[in-house]
Amino acid sequence: MAASSIFQRSFFKSYPTAKSADGVYIQTSSGRKVLDGSSGAAVSCLGHGHPAPIQAIIDQAQRMAFAHTSFFTNDPTEELASLLLEQSDGAFVKAFSLSSGSEAVESSIKIARQFHVCKGQPQRVKSICRKSAYHGNTLGSLSAGYSPARRETFEPLLSSAFHHVSRCFYSSDANENESEEAYVSRLIQEYENEFTRLGPDTVASVLLEPVSGATLGSVPAAAGYLAKLKELCVKHGALLIFDEVMCGIGRVGTYHAWQSLGNVAPDIQAIGKGLGAGYQAISGVLMSQRVYETLKNAEGQHPFVSGHTYQGHAIASAAALAVQRTIIDDNLLSNVQKMGDVLTQKLLESTPILKEVRGMGLFQTVDFATQPGSPIASKVASRCFENGAAVYLCSSAVDAVMFAPPFIINEVQINELVEIFTNSVKQVVEEQR
Ligand code: PLP
Repeated sequence: MAASSIFQRSFFKSYPTAKSADGVYIQTSSGRKVLDGSSGAAVSCLGHGHPAPIQAIIDQAQRMAFAHTSFFTNDPTEELASLLLEQSDGAFVKAFSLSSGSEAVESSIKIARQFHVCKGQPQRVKSICRKSAYHGNTLGSLSAGYSPARRETFEPLLSSAFHHVSRCFYSSDANENESEEAYVSRLIQEYENEFTRLGPDTVASVLLEPVSGATLGSVPAAAGYLAKLKELCVKHGALLIFDEVMCGIGRVGTYHAWQSLGNVAPDIQAIGKGLGAGYQAISGVLMSQRVYETLKNAEGQHPFVSGHTYQGHAIASAAALAVQRTIIDDNLLSNVQKMGDVLTQKLLESTPILKEVRGMGLFQTVDFATQPGSPIASKVASRCFENGAAVYLCSSAVDAVMFAPPFIINEVQINELVEIFTNSVKQVVEEQR
């Protein structure tokens, strides 16, 4: 059937039709089986066809599909929020759910803004974000991100509110012989300079991914970076927002990525993707006691209005609740850690043209050692797909592909994934000779 839908520019000539899926595999209408080596875009953490969310969706749809949050809350939404707070080491006291990561990021930014309005500091309107970041596709989240290719058509976006400092990418950007500590100090100084340039009392929030995802390919924050940044935010009265839409919900081996990075919790956090694992479209925002109390105490003056039609959606919440309970009850994070180590080791042995294998848990990236101007990642990703495995092509800021398989993957399947990747790299390199 000819496609009537359009999605995005793609490195495939045309999209095959995904027809069915089971475990770590997706089957096309022509019968081709593709190993989902990146869970789509780090979404399908439970793999495909898992009975728990499917049954939860059916049960909830039969009980009550939707009741608008202007009038009601519902059990799965409340239970999901409780579960999320329980997994957060006391960092957050309230949660709410939305439909997409972009909405969650924008809501986080708005909550930070409202926090300052409630505090009597309405002049705090700016956010300091980072270059090479992706935070979503809506106007605000696109403005917070910094992907030239995605932005250029829509410039100037909301440019007066969003300001960008350097990315944190020690293995790529450090000066020769610069220690990690010195590198971090340099970046923190750049933030300090940006606060000064903007006027510290005009900054509402600092927004970043603790582990950079799609743009750079699973780059964890350098040691000490998050703690120093939090100190700086406290010093200048700005709120710290983490975008864990891609790196969160167990992807790096702990429930939140920051729990693997010195336990530095943000004031507000956006989550998505692995929350519903693709079974439903659902994202979320988590907020700390300080943020919640400030908003609550000013409720008469500044009501908290989050009015997306599908927020707190009962079926979406039921699916997410089942996904999260499965992650916890089946102890899948220990598989993420174990299989993450196996994947890293196999990738290190996979090809001689490696610059770096980086990442945490089942969030791993191969950066190729190619000549500047002759990248191969796009061809490798394309060839992998032809050969039966989907791997994620990072942005053109790096020559890299990312692996983020479902948390249920086993060693045999990792071997299959890496073998397809290894052969695909070989084929691409031979063709280029
Ligand atoms: N933030 C990050 C880090 C992401 O990777 C993405 C999506 O890729 C988003 C936000 C936006 O999420 P969504 O595509 O669900 O709107």
